[in-house]
Amino acid sequence: MMNSPILNVTGLTMDFGGIRALNALDLDVYGGEIVALIGPNGAGKTTFFNCVTGIYMPTAGEVLLTSPKTGKSESLKGLKPNQVTEKGLARTFQNIRLFPKMTVLENVMIGRHCRTKAFILGAILRNRATREEEQSILETSYAILQKVGLEQYSNEFAENLPYGGQRRLEIARALATEPLLLLLDEPAAGMNPQETLELVELIKEISADGQAILLIEHDMKLVMSLSDRIFVMDYGKKIAQGTPAEIRENPAVIKAYLGED
Ligand code: ATP
Repeated sequence: MMNSPILNVTGLTMDFGGIRALNALDLDVYGGEIVALIGPNGAGKTTFFNCVTGIYMPTAGEVLLTSPKTGKSESLKGLKPNQVTEKGLARTFQNIRLFPKMTVLENVMIGRHCRTKAFILGAILRNRATREEEQSILETSYAILQKVGLEQYSNEFAENLPYGGQRRLEIARALATEPLLLLLDEPAAGMNPQETLELVELIKEISADGQAILLIEHDMKLVMSLSDRIFVMDYGKKIAQGTPAEIRENPAVIKAYLGED
C-alpha cells in the first residue's frame, strides 16, 4: 500500500479571460515515481506547472505537498514561487533561465539559497564568508555539479556552456534546493539525440537516488522509456492516465494526437 502522494492536485482550474487553460485537473505523484504530463501543443501543461509553482494563482482547485519523511501536508495555493521552492517543489523551465554571467558553480549555489542563510551565500559571492560556511556550500554545490556531469565547467560562465549543458545546469540548480518533487518542463527540448540519451541516463540516476520527478515532454520515446505513469491532457482536461503500455493503447490519447475519430 502506497503512502500519501507527495503532490496531490485536485480540481485545478485556470481561466485566462475567456480561455479555460486548465479544467478541473486532478493529478498526483508518489515518492520515487517518474510521472510524465503529456498532451498536444496548447493542452495546458506549462500552465499546470505555473499554477502549482506560484507563478499563476489558479482560479480554483487545491495543491497539496506532503513530506514523505514527516507526513506533514501543506497547501501551496497562494504562495509565491520562492515560497513554493522552500516548501519543496523545484522546477526547470521550457526556455532556459540561468544567470548567464555567473559561473556554473555559482548558478548551483544560488539554488542553495533557500536551504542556507541568504546572507552567507551573499558573503561567499563577495568573498566575505568564513571558511567553514564557504566550504560547506561549495562542497554541496560541487557534488551536485558532479552528479550532472558538469564539474569540469564549474568556473566557466553559464552562458559558455553548450546548450545541453545549460539544460543540465538548470536541473542541478533545481536539485540544489533539495526538492521533495522535481518538475522538469521539456528537459529534452532542443537537445540533439546524443544529449537526449545522456539526459535520460541522468534522469534515471536522479530517480534512483529516490528523487520524485514530474516532467512535461514532447519526446514520446523518452516519455515511454522513463515514466512509471503518464497523465495525458487535451484542451485543459485530463483525458487519460496510466502506465506507458496503457497510454499507448488508449483510444482517447490516439485521437487527441492523431485527430482521428
Ligand atoms: P506547449 O506544449 O505548446 O508548450 P502547453 O500544453 O504547455 O503547450 P500552455 O502553454 O499551458 O500549453 O497553454 C494552454 C492554453 O492557455 C493555450 O491556449 C495558451 O494560449 C493559454 N495561455 C497560457 N498562458 C496564458 C496567458 N498568460 N495568458 C493567456 N492565455 C494563456
